[in-house]
Amino acid sequence: MRVGIIGAGPAGVAAAQVIAGKGVEVTLFSAEKVLPYYRPRLPELAFGNKQLDNIFMHKLEWYAEKGIDLRLDSKVKTIKRDFEISLKNGSNEKFDALVIAIGGGPVIPDFCKRSSSKNIFPLWTYSDALHIREQIKSNKKIAVIGGGVIGIEAALRAEDNDLRVVIIEKTKHLMSRNFAKHASELIEKQLRERNVDLLLDNSVTAVEDTPDNKTLVVMEHENGVTCNFVVLSLGAGFDTSLAYEAGIKTDRKILVDKNMQTSSPGIFAAGDIAQFSRPTACSAKESLQQGKTVGLNVLAYLNNEKMKIYEVQPVPVRFKYKDFEIYSIGKVPKIDDDEKRLDADDLKVYRACIYEGSVLAGVQMVGSNKDIRKYQEQFLLAKAWENIKGVRHEKGFEES
Ligand SMILES: Cc1cc2nc3c(=O)[nH]c(=O)nc-3n(C[C@H](O)[C@H](O)[C@H](O)COP(=O)(O)OP(=O)(O)OC[C@H]3O[C@@H](n4cnc5c(N)ncnc54)[C@H](O)[C@@H]3O)c2cc1C
Repeated sequence: MRVGIIGAGPAGVAAAQVIAGKGVEVTLFSAEKVLPYYRPRLPELAFGNKQLDNIFMHKLEWYAEKGIDLRLDSKVKTIKRDFEISLKNGSNEKFDALVIAIGGGPVIPDFCKRSSSKNIFPLWTYSDALHIREQIKSNKKIAVIGGGVIGIEAALRAEDNDLRVVIIEKTKHLMSRNFAKHASELIEKQLRERNVDLLLDNSVTAVEDTPDNKTLVVMEHENGVTCNFVVLSLGAGFDTSLAYEAGIKTDRKILVDKNMQTSSPGIFAAGDIAQFSRPTACSAKESLQQGKTVGLNVLAYLNNEKMKIYEVQPVPVRFKYKDFEIYSIGKVPKIDDDEKRLDADDLKVYRACIYEGSVLAGVQMVGSNKDIRKYQEQFLLAKAWENIKGVRHEKGFEES
């Protein structure tokens, strides 16, 4: 039996380990030239002390020891529903099951596609991080486009490298999808106190190089910002063409059932590229868990056994850098929600629980993660109970 795994992020590597652990032959295809690495450590590679070797998931020997045939620089070009794949070098290989774990890619907006500037860098791969690392050696001012958690981390780390930093964000408040207005305002205050400039409620329309070798970020409602280079941090996009062209059902991502199997039996998807009936957020931990379950389900598929159900978990937004810390899970409070504030110190700390009736529906923290474990556990318990109730309703049980 042979299993082909496409993509060597946390989902692909975890699936490979589980499947190879049972003695099944596994080939793990990676489009990248270096060993599989932890993407969350890229900001440290770009702006910190981490070297490339420090962010690898495992050493090269590990793959051979585990019985995984790791193929670097081997982008899979097409797959077929009979498990045949073709590689960019033109060769074909045949398997007995496939796992698609190709993750996402950075959103590149039209103003970047139109731009001829060489000073725009996404932060998505190790080579993006190394390019940025090179840039900060000789440059002084950077513009970060996109004020999500990765943009904020890039800005804080850049500031620590004595760079002048501005974050440009099109919404009125930073991270407004994850935090209430009050919490967002505190995040903004704390960033400004750390010398990070913010231009909010402002859309970038163009990025151009200037005759004096600088870069001008042109905006809708502002004069424009001149900097040395731009870091793009606008979230993730997903390329589903590999699956779509094989006739596998896709939506924004590749659709999977509760066993993480796609619409084509024996072809599974895991990690950021997999889409359940309920959408999940991108997360390294979630991808790893999905990879493990997919590994077990591939084995079950090969042995004609019962597959495991993957329980989708709510993914928190969690980030800590030195004394800057933010956390959000579940519902974002609105004016008419029952919000219980846990601190009185409005200027430095915001911690709140959001209730729907007596049920904990969300937790938000800025400036302190005190008791976060306790509240997260309560939240997850409430969610698990909600899911059980959902199943009981679906099956027609009566409430007791
Ligand atoms: C800068 C940055 C910081 C982040 N920080 C955090 C964080 O702090 N916490 C957190 O939980 N998450 C974080 N994330 C998100 C997290 O990294 C992802 O959710 C996670 O890596 C997804 O894992 P995955 O295995 O699904 O895919 P990925 O890790 O994206 O790996 C997919 C791999 O597949 C390869 N591939 C794609 N197409 C092909 C093909 N056709 N053939 C072969 N290989 C292919 C890609 O090159 C890639 O190496 C961060 C992401 C970024 C970019």
